[in-house]
Amino acid sequence: MIEKSKINVNWKVIGHAQQKLYLESAFFGNRLTHSYLFSGPPHVGKTALALDFARLLNCENGNLCGKCLACVNPVEIFSELIVIDKDTEIKIDEIRSLKRDLALKPLSGQKKVAIIANAENLNRESANSLLKFLEEPQKDNFFILTTAAVGFLPQTIVSRVQKINFSPNSKQETEKHLNSLDISKAITKQVLELAPNKIGLANILSKNIEELERWRQQDMELDDLFSQSVFERMQYTSQISKLETQQIVNIFKTWLILSESRLRQTKQKDMKAQTDFIKALNTALMHFKSNLNKRLVLDNFVLSF
Ligand SMILES: [Zn+2]
Repeated sequence: MIEKSKINVNWKVIGHAQQKLYLESAFFGNRLTHSYLFSGPPHVGKTALALDFARLLNCENGNLCGKCLACVNPVEIFSELIVIDKDTEIKIDEIRSLKRDLALKPLSGQKKVAIIANAENLNRESANSLLKFLEEPQKDNFFILTTAAVGFLPQTIVSRVQKINFSPNSKQETEKHLNSLDISKAITKQVLELAPNKIGLANILSKNIEELERWRQQDMELDDLFSQSVFERMQYTSQISKLETQQIVNIFKTWLILSESRLRQTKQKDMKAQTDFIKALNTALMHFKSNLNKRLVLDNFVLSF
């Protein structure tokens, strides 16, 4: 049983009460481990909480005071914090550069924290290189990996880290966050429809009208896809097969996120179609990652739901 600490930590991230409690307990109880893996759905605030935690580890007042340098310094100039956050392959050079940065001694009393978001993007070489580091961490070094696809991470890494699981945000939490922003009611409503359980995504969409429009478009295409015959779907995929693989992967990832939101709101009787679709998307994404023939993957995809 984890007891709430007496110190009030000013987490910026909304929700994830259990995960915060766990981290506070490790921090105040001197039971920190050197590497953590935040695992759970995309865009629910895993990387944001990793940043909060990295700042807490270095906060002069030990409570995320929001005033000291560790709390207010932007990531770019906060030398104790190194963040790799990208959608594409994480190459060995980036891990080497990370190692060089970590080798520099932290300022007195500070801790160096490396955050690797979307850790499923580590390739085999970079994962192996990172593993050596996770096995023999320096006293003042901490790693926080985040992933929405833990199955794509090598087991050797997963077994080396303290895993913390995340769940989707509640609709109330997302709404609370949106209400705290300076945006119109109409935008709030649209964003809440597309991302009811993902504060991170809601945040992006609320600040970027073009991105919001793109997601609305994809949401409508998803509706179309479901109402089409196999023949019509084939025509559609023959069109998108002309895109670069990475562009198709991005569309599929968007659909996956939208479908998961839909699934949470689906009536029991419509559930099978939705889960079949999600399975088909995941299979296609796996095939793309294995560099299978694009056209073949797409044909296989439209026939599987
Ligand atoms: Zn502080």
